[in-house]
Amino acid sequence: MTGKHQRRAAANEATIRDVNEGIERGQWPGEEDSPVGFRCECARLGCNRLIELSVHEYEEIRANPRRFVLLPGHEFADIETVIETRPGYIIVEKRDEAAEVAEENNPRG
Ligand SMILES: [Zn+2]
Repeated sequence: MTGKHQRRAAANEATIRDVNEGIERGQWPGEEDSPVGFRCECARLGCNRLIELSVHEYEEIRANPRRFVLLPGHEFADIETVIETRPGYIIVEKRDEAAEVAEENNPRG
């Protein structure tokens, strides 16, 4: 994958992350431990699959701007590294240019 493709894939993922931020904000206080349907944050165009995890779990992942939550098998090995596999989802960390784009687009940056 070229640098240009890496940046495009990462930008797509950053957009989905904004959607998930909105989903998270829509939760009621006190429901942080209930499963919520977050969008898969993978780089596949048109992927609109949902991943169930609690707001607490999502916050833990989002504490690092380079980390994203994906469905198993939706990772792109050339831009990200799977750092943890959990029931129903995986956590990936961006590398190189994709990581820079993720940080530039961090909605909390
Ligand atoms: Zn996906």
